[in-house]
Amino acid sequence: MSTDNRRLAELAGHDAFVHRHNGPGTADVEAMLATLGVESMPALIDKTIPAGIRLGRELDLDPPRGEAESLTYLKRLARQNKVFKTYIGQGYYNTHTPAVILRNVLENPGWYTAYTPYQPEIAQGRLEGLLNFQQMVMDLTGMDLANASLLDEATAAAEAMALCHRANKKVKSDRFFVADDVFPQTLDVLRTRAAYLDIELVVDAAERVAEHEVFGALFQYPGDTGRIHDLGALIAQASERRAMTCVAADLMSLALLKEPGALGADIVLGNSQRFGVPMGFGGPHAAFFAATDKLKRSIPGRIIGVSKDSRGNTALRMAMQTREQHIRREKATSNICTAQALLANIAGFYAVYHGAEGIRTIATRIHRLTSILAEGLRRKGVALENTSWFDTLTLTGVDAGKIHGRALTHEVNLRFHADGRVGVSLDETTTPADVAVLFDVLLGEEHDLSVSALDDAVIAENLGGIPEGQTRESAYLTHPNFTRYRSETEMLRYLKRLENRDLSLTHAMIPLGSCTMKLNATSEMIPITWPEFANIHPFAPRDQAVGYKQMIDELSAFLVEITGYDHISMQPNSGAQGEYAGLVAIRRYQAAQGQGHRDICLIPSSAHGTNPASAAMAHMKVVVVECDERGNIDIDDLRAKVEQHSERLSAIMITYPSTHGVFEETVREVCRLVHDHGGQVYIDGANMNAQVGITRPGDFGGDVSHLNLHKTFCIPHGGGGPGMGPIGVKAHLAPFVSNHVVTPIAGVREDSGAVAAAAFGSASILPISWAYIKMMGARGLREATELAILNANYIARRLEAHYPVLYRGVNGTVAHECIIDIRPLKADSGISEEDIAKRLMDYGFHAPTMSFPVPGTLMIEPTESESLFEIDRFCDAMIAIREEIRRVEAGEWPQDNNPLVNAPHTMADLMDAAWERPYDRELGAFPSEAVKAAKVWPAVNRVDNVFGDRNLICSCPSIDAYRD
Ligand SMILES: *Cc1c(COP(=O)(O)O)cnc(C)c1O
Repeated sequence: MSTDNRRLAELAGHDAFVHRHNGPGTADVEAMLATLGVESMPALIDKTIPAGIRLGRELDLDPPRGEAESLTYLKRLARQNKVFKTYIGQGYYNTHTPAVILRNVLENPGWYTAYTPYQPEIAQGRLEGLLNFQQMVMDLTGMDLANASLLDEATAAAEAMALCHRANKKVKSDRFFVADDVFPQTLDVLRTRAAYLDIELVVDAAERVAEHEVFGALFQYPGDTGRIHDLGALIAQASERRAMTCVAADLMSLALLKEPGALGADIVLGNSQRFGVPMGFGGPHAAFFAATDKLKRSIPGRIIGVSKDSRGNTALRMAMQTREQHIRREKATSNICTAQALLANIAGFYAVYHGAEGIRTIATRIHRLTSILAEGLRRKGVALENTSWFDTLTLTGVDAGKIHGRALTHEVNLRFHADGRVGVSLDETTTPADVAVLFDVLLGEEHDLSVSALDDAVIAENLGGIPEGQTRESAYLTHPNFTRYRSETEMLRYLKRLENRDLSLTHAMIPLGSCTMKLNATSEMIPITWPEFANIHPFAPRDQAVGYKQMIDELSAFLVEITGYDHISMQPNSGAQGEYAGLVAIRRYQAAQGQGHRDICLIPSSAHGTNPASAAMAHMKVVVVECDERGNIDIDDLRAKVEQHSERLSAIMITYPSTHGVFEETVREVCRLVHDHGGQVYIDGANMNAQVGITRPGDFGGDVSHLNLHKTFCIPHGGGGPGMGPIGVKAHLAPFVSNHVVTPIAGVREDSGAVAAAAFGSASILPISWAYIKMMGARGLREATELAILNANYIARRLEAHYPVLYRGVNGTVAHECIIDIRPLKADSGISEEDIAKRLMDYGFHAPTMSFPVPGTLMIEPTESESLFEIDRFCDAMIAIREEIRRVEAGEWPQDNNPLVNAPHTMADLMDAAWERPYDRELGAFPSEAVKAAKVWPAVNRVDNVFGDRNLICSCPSIDAYRD
């Protein structure tokens, strides 16, 4: 920025936000540098980041804008979106987010800033919310078991296909049947996935399922055009041929329709969006995935289960963690990591709020209005494609052009099929007046139909669209959680009660290595619930999403400049999806070069588990590159492996700075070696927070990277999602990133299939990252990176006398995180990294990342947003804990009875008359002055994971379990 610009910016107060985002002030920075014995910030960066890869200039971004000004600008963009009344359907529907949920969950940092519930003792609130979600899905689908969300319906369908492929041992086929009325975007994603799993898709009319020899079959229920198939018959035919059956179901329709579980489905999946989550131009919303009991160990994603704590009380936690990619790596069956926890919670609360009667009332109203519409059209001689419906009608033989014109006049969106058919999908927000307008649009204004007269007929003559024998008979949502909280007062208190059981960024720093839990500023969050962003259908005509396009284009341009790549693909809705999308782009590019045989992916042993899992999904063979004792990629081993596999080398996946928290000096050489042997370089961008404004992966050798916008670029973690994982690519890969069958993307090859259900993934949370970059500006972003590095080095320095710091760069510094080694300590005292993690709860903190990338360690990442005060508080706690461990080592406290192994301490412990511990209650629960002033109580004692996995229960426990 020129001096002139800076002056103007200062005059306008534009520099202010950077001081809100960054924790340490000028005096703090000086004090921390002094502690490190480093004279200045530039000197610290010189010691830390290799000179050969530095950008050497400020990023070329617009001058920063203040919070108010950014919001004004964004509002102007938002207003360029047109919020028409939308009846497009196809998996996305208008919904009323109950205001009590909107304000107290979606707009509440107590919910949205929480981390994935790996530490269940301080996450019982959101675990209960997610268990409600699972119970709701199980009830409505009629299945035995459900997970706590996937990314979207299309990827959930792909996961179902992959699961059937693995699990069906009875049919030798590699063919998967997809009914031809599955949503087109779902088919698009299935095609992409199938291509790399050696699966052949058979797309045919649902009724012809029995004519094919397939390992599995997918049906849409109700189908794409609204038809309600005789699902029981279809499932029976497929099962007879021993195919497994998957049903992509509409959750709302299941309130009235016979549930697929009762009809014998193996897997039921879909989107829970219309349960209170705005469409948001495609996301985020929670996909669900439910299965029969015999598939319980193979279900992808996270499952919340019921276990007990060390006092024998009911306690919730994530079940069967051993299935996750970080343990199974390339043998993992799915790469799903970040999912849609916040949105799953919202959908679950929607069911809590409405209960069975409420949901049935809403579904019945939708169906009744649709039946009124159908009857009116029938009377006017309009032909409908189907004789059955829940909420969707498809009109045939109509003048689509005329209807289109009238629709525009009335600001109404309908679904216009390429062949002239017209689709209408009603939803919770549709009123009788809307139906009257629909008649005007569909028939022209001289139709003389009366909605109330039609309603009389519908009621009197029972003119519904649900075929006989397909009406739901079983009850659902009968658990007291779905009946107790009907008044807003009760609901508000329930939400607050759950929130209060959880630790989030509203309480303390969450120092999670690799996860970058930084500030999610309120100004960044405000736009996401503006109707102009929230209420846009992903398949709305593009001239209604001009504001979205502008915002996405601007954000893409920012990210191009920040990463040094040529193009950004905004489709992947998580980091792991970005990995998959990037690897698929590499494979498509190589195939186009006649190099399609290249299928080896080199991955360092320290890599995040999603890397090998994504490579396996892209049908690559993973070859592990060793690390040396300093944690760096072993160049000799790499050299040997690129030579050995030169012919088949497709790519390397590296993380930079490494997952060990070090800027490896050799990164350029690593990239060159791989390029020399015809390979492409994938740089995992999860650690981008250590690079922004100082170095760029596109400059030092990367061909493609994903960015975790939910780490580096301020999208909140949501307790395990949402996220966004856009990929940056060099120009040669740009034509091979994901396209989209419904809403094609310019510049991308037509045959490059989608990786997500919507063209721009979870578009409605992109304003968060946009606002962050806009408000920080080039200098602010660079300073944030520098502070992230300073904070990590300060922590390493303060802790090194107490815990060994495992890896450092050549000059003794760490990058933006540091790993402390607990193994020596454990050998001496028996105290484990888990004991320290639990004891930190007593001190009011969330644990750092445990045992990644090295077992027996803790990886601490403070981020730039934490102040010196908070960082010192954390270091003080860690040091106090070290002193406690010393007392165990000294024999003062027994190895099996001390504040560490007994942690966390709960109110139940303090109330226990039989306190038989060699330390007093105060030391147990109030070990520091800070917690005496403000205590976050762990809701339960240490959770027994083994018990929960042996006795897997993934439904809401009966109230007696709590009473007992
Ligand atoms: C978080 C992370 C990922 C995966 O990102 P998700 O958004 O959770 O899918 C991949 N690699 C690294 C190093 C990460 O830290």
